[in-house]
Amino acid sequence: MMTETERRTLEERLYTIKAQIAAAAEKAGRDPSEILLVAATKMNDAERVQAAISMGLTACGENRVQELLEKYEQGAYTGADLQFIGTLQTNKVKYLMGKVSLIQSVGSIKLAECIAKEAKKHKICQDILLEVNIGREQAKSGFLPENLPEALEILPNLPDIRIRGLMAIPPVQAESEKSSGYFTKMKQLFVDISAKKYDNVFMDYLSMGMTADFEQAIACGANIVRVGTGIFGRRPYAQANADLAT
Ligand SMILES: *Cc1c(COP(=O)(O)O)cnc(C)c1O
Repeated sequence: MMTETERRTLEERLYTIKAQIAAAAEKAGRDPSEILLVAATKMNDAERVQAAISMGLTACGENRVQELLEKYEQGAYTGADLQFIGTLQTNKVKYLMGKVSLIQSVGSIKLAECIAKEAKKHKICQDILLEVNIGREQAKSGFLPENLPEALEILPNLPDIRIRGLMAIPPVQAESEKSSGYFTKMKQLFVDISAKKYDNVFMDYLSMGMTADFEQAIACGANIVRVGTGIFGRRPYAQANADLAT
C-alpha cells in the first residue's frame, strides 16, 4: 500500500511535470493542450499507476509485454489510454491486440507486417508510430532515416495498420543540452514526410523527450513526451541499466 506521503509526492511530481510541459509549450508558442503526456509506467505497480490516473494522468506507456499483461489484469490502466513504447518481439505482438491504442516502437517492416497480420485477426486497425534510430546506434532498434521512404511505400498498403507519426529515443547524453540536435533532425523528418503526403500516412504525432529532456523536445516540436522518473521517481538501479541496453 502506498503511504499518504508517497501519494502526495506522486501528486506533486505529476503536477510539476504538467506545469513544465505547459511552460515549455507556451515558450515555444504552442498550445499546451497539443502535448500529450504519456507516463512511462515500467516498474511501477498497479496501485501507483491507478493513483496517478486518479490524479489526472490520461495516458500510460508500458515497455514490456509481460509486465503490461500482469498489470492490465490488475486494472492498472483503467481510466487511461494505454500505449506500448518498448522493444517488441514479433511473437509477442498478439498479446497487445485490443489492449493498446498505439504501438509507438515499430522499428522494422517485419514488425509492422506482423502487427498488421495480428490486427487483421482481431478485426482491428492498429495505430503505430515508426521508431527512428536517429542516433544511428548499433544496439538500438528503429529505422535509419534513409530507410523510412521504403517503409512509407510498403506499409501504407497494409489496411490493418495506420501510421500516425514518428518516435525516437536519442542516445543518452552526458549533458541534456545535446539532445536538441537529434530532436531537430526528427522534426525535419516529420515535416518532410508530412509534406510528401503519402497515402494512408498520418503525421499526427511526434513522440520524443523523456524526464531529462522533454522540455527541449517540446521546443523542437514534440507533441508526445514520455516521462517516467519525473512522475514516479527513480526506478531501481538494475532496471535503469536494463533500459539503456534496449
Ligand atoms: C522508461 C522510458 C521512458 C521514460 O524514461 P524516464 O527517463 O524515466 O523519463 C521513455 N521512453 C521509453 C521508451 C522508456 O522505456
